[in-house]
Amino acid sequence: MQKIGLIGGMSWESTQIYYKIINQKVREILGGFHSAKCIIESVDFSEIHRLQSENDWDALNEKIVEAATNLKNAKAEVILICANTMHLCSGAIAQNVDLPLLHIAEATGEAIKKAGLKKVLLLGTKFTMEKDFYKDIITNDFGIEVLIPNDEDRETVHNVIYEELVQGKINTGSKGEYMRIIYEAVKNGAEGVILGCTEIPLLIQPTDVPIQTFDTTQIHAEKAVEFALSTVLSN
Ligand code: GLU
Repeated sequence: MQKIGLIGGMSWESTQIYYKIINQKVREILGGFHSAKCIIESVDFSEIHRLQSENDWDALNEKIVEAATNLKNAKAEVILICANTMHLCSGAIAQNVDLPLLHIAEATGEAIKKAGLKKVLLLGTKFTMEKDFYKDIITNDFGIEVLIPNDEDRETVHNVIYEELVQGKINTGSKGEYMRIIYEAVKNGAEGVILGCTEIPLLIQPTDVPIQTFDTTQIHAEKAVEFALSTVLSN
């Protein structure tokens, strides 16, 4: 089994779910007393959030490369950034740290393609919804059209993430807003919705909406297990 390196704390509300899913999945596949070999480098989200607000992606790249380097030094064999937004720094890891990085948008694109969907709504932070780094992978690599909410609704989705979800607050009013935004996208042809922020699955469950949900935390964590066990399972 290969050792999984997780860059966590962005936020820890979702990192703990990664840890749980990864271990559950390893036990499900290998049985008995098996659990995952993994290491978590958990950052202080306050610093990350401040630098995001200042749009200082050079400093964020440095922080993420430092975290990935620490994981490599701790003998991790594969790296995951446990957040969608911070994949804006994935290029910096690829350039500076000689370890495979499992990209969350690639894993998600694969899952949507496998489900046979052609048009999906993307919910996440404004960085994830508005910049190209995420949508381009889903569209260019997997041929899937990506819808995003209108300006006002993007603001709502973004604010709920930072003012509530990363702080562990689950608000039924916000859940209603998210559901309204998803139903709106269904009218525009969305066949599925990417829960493209690792805390959104705390708020929206598959049964809340009439289309398929793609839980990026679950998809990414399962991808890590698939990678870590690939040599064990092929023997
Ligand atoms: N966990 C979040 C994500 O998946 C948002 C927190 C962050 O800004 O990293 O995008």
